[in-house]
Amino acid sequence: MTSQKWLLASNNDGKRKEFAALLAPIGVSLISQGELAIPEAPEPYLTFLENALAKARHAARLSGLPSLADDSGLCVDALGGAPGVHSARYAGEPKSDTRNNALLLERMTGIADRCAAFVCTLVLVRHAEDPDPIVAQGRWLGSIVQQPSGSGGFGYDPLFWINELSCTSADLSSQQKNSLSHRAQAMRRLLELCKS
Ligand code: IMP
Repeated sequence: MTSQKWLLASNNDGKRKEFAALLAPIGVSLISQGELAIPEAPEPYLTFLENALAKARHAARLSGLPSLADDSGLCVDALGGAPGVHSARYAGEPKSDTRNNALLLERMTGIADRCAAFVCTLVLVRHAEDPDPIVAQGRWLGSIVQQPSGSGGFGYDPLFWINELSCTSADLSSQQKNSLSHRAQAMRRLLELCKS
């Protein structure tokens, strides 16, 4: 897989840049679906895998390019994996990190088991009907704090405690977070799979 152009099924330019930097060494350049005016695909499924696969197939169908999609979120053990695929809109519309975090802390009141994981599933399809997509997952283990802490990152970062570093993911520099995160882990696996 060298000297290729892939599409990223996302309009998040930060994500595109992060993934593009990791893919450049294997000769892949990445454009975002917004550049081709491709609308976002619906994400109605119960798993990160199904949502990422649907997004990748949709983008490949409309672009004719190999397409990479990611789906991610926070899974809390004591809540049966919630907020999971509903992470972005846990507290409903309009999407709000502040209300999502407040709701999560409310649901965790009195719960002793605070184990959680950020999960990212990446799917690469070579074309829209690809019967054998490349799938890579990253899982970043942590726990949910009692009070928000830290001002970096986004989403649930102020609530996500990393034991080994004794801080939340919102306390990390973006460089530190980009090397440890669920997305970074998934991307490293995808690269290994592509190389092999
Ligand atoms: P997406 O699939 O990357 O758009 O992520 C969906 C949602 O999961 C985001 O809106 C956040 O609420 C949550 N999320 C995913 N990754 C992170 C992260 O690295 N930090 C904090 N929240 C995240």
